[in-house]
Amino acid sequence: MSNYPADVEVLDAESQRNVPAVPEGARVIIVTCMDCRIDVWATFRLQPRQAHVLRNAGGRVKDAFRSIILSQHFVQPTEPGSTEVWVVHHTGCGMKGTTNADFREDLTKIYPTHEACINDIDFLPIAPGMSLEDSVRADVKWLKDQPLLREGTTVKGYIYHIPRLEAVTQESSDKRGWQQFPANLNV
Ligand SMILES: [Zn+2]
Repeated sequence: MSNYPADVEVLDAESQRNVPAVPEGARVIIVTCMDCRIDVWATFRLQPRQAHVLRNAGGRVKDAFRSIILSQHFVQPTEPGSTEVWVVHHTGCGMKGTTNADFREDLTKIYPTHEACINDIDFLPIAPGMSLEDSVRADVKWLKDQPLLREGTTVKGYIYHIPRLEAVTQESSDKRGWQQFPANLNV
């Protein structure tokens, strides 16, 4: 039984039990994390030309918004634009439990003369105490509230569970390298 509310669906990439396929002929925008463990095309069984996949750290919609608007209004002038957006956050995400202060402090250590520039960046962290359910719901709500979102757009939220084996592999490889990143980036 899922502990998540009905508007946030839990996907299980390992079993593929709960992973929805994009209906044939449908056009969707999938916003998800840039984490290499997520094979978006295979997981959602996407066909070529069926989706715009927008990836960034955490899969945050504010970061993807410019591309969402372009996808819906300008990219396919001879076809109807995408009217469905899937927001997919995932377990084991490096952005979970982070703060802007953490990123700014660590980056300022590397670039001490660029503090002002660094402080201007919103890294869109999934803050400590914020669950994946919270982050997905916040992004879905934020997107639905945008006046430039195409009228009639359906926005769905999902939580993708990284397969256990992959998560363990990632953890051990993190211990060997990536020291230049803040320690809390390696969940
Ligand atoms: Zn992630």
